[in-house]
Amino acid sequence: MKYEWMDQALCAQVDPDLWFPGGAGSGSHKAKKVCEVCPVSAECGGYADLLEGDGSNGRRHGMWGGRSAQQRTKPRPRDAARDAAIVRLTDRGISPAEIAERLDISDRTVARVIAAHREQEVA
Ligand code: SF4
Repeated sequence: MKYEWMDQALCAQVDPDLWFPGGAGSGSHKAKKVCEVCPVSAECGGYADLLEGDGSNGRRHGMWGGRSAQQRTKPRPRDAARDAAIVRLTDRGISPAEIAERLDISDRTVARVIAAHREQEVA
């Protein structure tokens, strides 16, 4: 699927091998520098999180939104706090739509975090 923000992706304008350490390029350091100034870094990182969280596509390889595959396995501190708030509000019986509105985040983010939390509870 292609989104409008992808038209502004800086990685589409440089050597794509930079995004895949071990490939022909010089690795993730240079890619990260490009990501730092990319105007759609937030959208890109969110998209990778979404793809990795929905269980249909498995792990994404390479750098997305300035984070390597390994870095994306750990929640960013602000994400950890947001995720904890989502779980707390869910436990209080607040609807996903209201949580999304209160925290100013998307319904999909709420759904992804709740699903991940339920998976952890089952495991
Ligand atoms: S943030 Fe995403 S879209 Fe932008 S350069 Fe990096 S990988 Fe490409």
